[in-house]
Amino acid sequence: MDGKALALSLEAEMKLSVDALREKNARIPKLVVILVGDNPASQTYVKNKAKACDRVGFLSEIITLDGSVSQEIVLSTIHRLNKDETVDGILVQLPVPKHLDAKAIVHALDPNKDVDGLHPMNVAKLYENEKGFVPCTPKGIMRLLKEYKVDVVGKHCVVLGRSNLVGRPVAQLLLNENATVTICHSKTQNLSELTQQADIIVVAIGRANFLTSKDVKHAECIIDVGINRVDGKLVGDVAYDELVDKVDAMTPVPGGVGPMTIGMLLENTLEAYRMHEGESL
Ligand code: NAP
Repeated sequence: MDGKALALSLEAEMKLSVDALREKNARIPKLVVILVGDNPASQTYVKNKAKACDRVGFLSEIITLDGSVSQEIVLSTIHRLNKDETVDGILVQLPVPKHLDAKAIVHALDPNKDVDGLHPMNVAKLYENEKGFVPCTPKGIMRLLKEYKVDVVGKHCVVLGRSNLVGRPVAQLLLNENATVTICHSKTQNLSELTQQADIIVVAIGRANFLTSKDVKHAECIIDVGINRVDGKLVGDVAYDELVDKVDAMTPVPGGVGPMTIGMLLENTLEAYRMHEGESL
């Protein structure tokens, strides 16, 4: 399942929309990313988000705050951006340094600018199966399944991982699409038995090559969300080579879920823009 190709085609479509806005001299969508501290991985993620905005013609701004910044300064930055009419999407790169209250920071975002879909208002909408901002990685996974015509209705989907960013929202999206969902986590006792029964497996735990041949009899689809560095090489949570003959469709790492996450961030920013311009989401 080629997430890179799909993301590129989505970007091309979005670029056409932005080109049309420029021709009309209309306002251009803008994403602001707040980075606190100098975590190298976060710096790379933030740069990649800004580069993606450039590719489709969005405006973007990275606000870098010192790693020792106070909670008050972070909150006042968010309040200022909430009020700024030229800003459509705001994203706080997580994790933030430990002395900050990440929950309060996310709660301070205007839910209509929360393009990461983590504000409780958007979380509630997801759980009530209503339209709102959906976290980018789970949204990208659903788009890949749709693109590759993997029908989830009535299927047994086993999700490994229960984080607020990936596991829980992807499980909810699958449930909203009428899948039968099992969520596994670090305390699950019979994990391998469950994955062996699955039609679709989503692995989002952050352990290199965790899902192996012994865990799968035959699956329709395996989605590998993991990003792990082993000897300087990027590897997923799934032992791809061991499983490739046991599955009809599978995402690679890199080139699977990762590019779709960025694609969905752009899509959420465009949706936020459209909403701010008075169109319904
Ligand atoms: P996280 O917050 O660390 O959550 C990991 C989850 O995996 C937790 O629910 C944990 O269970 C579970 N887990 C850990 N070890 C396990 C085990 N041995 N068996 C079963 N479950 C286990 O991670 P995350 O943010 O969801 O990210 C997961 C992975 O996806 C990471 O590699 C991350 O880098 C990657 N990621 C990729 C993208 C992308 O765009 N491709 C986006 C986001 C994340 P407990 O809840 O019981 O602790």
